[in-house]
Amino acid sequence: MSFSSFGLSPFLLQALTEMTYEKPTPIQELAIPAILTGKDVLGIAPTGSGKTASYVLPVLAQLSKVEKAKNRHIQSLILVPTRELAIQVEEVFKSFAHKLPEPLKVKAVYGGVSINPQMKAMMGVSILIATPGRLIELAESNAIHLSTLKSLVLDEADKLLNLDFQEEMKRILSWIPKKRQNLLFSATLNDKVSEITQLILHEPIVLKI
Ligand code: AMP
Repeated sequence: MSFSSFGLSPFLLQALTEMTYEKPTPIQELAIPAILTGKDVLGIAPTGSGKTASYVLPVLAQLSKVEKAKNRHIQSLILVPTRELAIQVEEVFKSFAHKLPEPLKVKAVYGGVSINPQMKAMMGVSILIATPGRLIELAESNAIHLSTLKSLVLDEADKLLNLDFQEEMKRILSWIPKKRQNLLFSATLNDKVSEITQLILHEPIVLKI
């Protein structure tokens, strides 16, 4: 199997070549076409398996079809447990997004640093990567609006739940549109993950590698 079999744009294929990603990893082989159907997806895959690109590529492919004006509002929210992962995911998005003919603004926000520069950087963001606490602070101070959201990704969901982000997650869920695509990635499928899966995902395609 090759990346060109997914129907991704030449811009994304060129970025893949530049990044020397020659062929999809097993989770990418399953998740890219599944996400492109528009259905909810549950991906159980260990860290290091290439799961970041398995959602970054189809999310970018979907957003590059959206009208330019709409892309100046938040379209996709990626919730992650830690600052380190937020920065890492932002880098993967940026390394692909800069190749698109209409570049999309990608921004990561996380706690432990001053909120003011993050507030100022929110204008025109289409893809927001966030840790739950800082996302809530930004939403409560009206620096972001989540009513335009089309897709929600929970990355390292098991870690998000182990860090006791349940209450934060429920609050965030109450603010975002009900009609959206949900993607949940986790290294393990434990009771907490199953519970949040039932709360968030609607008839998901389940992938396990
Ligand atoms: P992840 O599991 O998303 O953290 O990715 C683990 C590492 O694999 C990262 O350094 C990626 O850049 C790299 N990677 C992901 N997909 C591929 C691929 N298809 N070919 C080569 N390297 C990849």
